[in-house]
Amino acid sequence: MQSDVRVGIGYDIHRLVAGRRLLLGGIEVPFDRGLAGHSDADVVLHAVMDALLGAAGLPDIGELFPDTDEAFRGADSRELLRLVMQRVHTRGVRPHNVDVIVHAEAPKLTPHKRAIAESIAELLNLPADRVGVKAKTGEGLGAVGTGEAIACTAAALLVGSPRSV
Ligand code: MG
Repeated sequence: MQSDVRVGIGYDIHRLVAGRRLLLGGIEVPFDRGLAGHSDADVVLHAVMDALLGAAGLPDIGELFPDTDEAFRGADSRELLRLVMQRVHTRGVRPHNVDVIVHAEAPKLTPHKRAIAESIAELLNLPADRVGVKAKTGEGLGAVGTGEAIACTAAALLVGSPRSV
């Protein structure tokens, strides 16, 4: 059986609003606002899922978990990621490493980067040193820079012996 290496990228952005918890990578980060969305709006896990799905040659999360579906209202993105991992494993591939950039003007994420990386690693069943988390501000520019939104870019490398499903 031939082994393969596959890279995928994911991106997501959600609006910051009052009255919501801020979930990033499966953990809650203390802040006076949170991200709006149909699910729990964990922008980091959404980008990671799309990176994994793209690398596996599977449909994106918008197709798998449509925001028009009441079943996913308030959905725990950690549970959605577990479903994605099942799909990825069915394809005969597994994550080797994941790298993430969180784009946020506030809150400052430096104190939380390690916890976010460890949370993602646990969800992906990877050693913590296979998950990178970087935080970048928007330098005051655009929706991120003005604090209206938090975005995330993710890359995932998958290895294995892909089979069609
Ligand atoms: Mg999203």
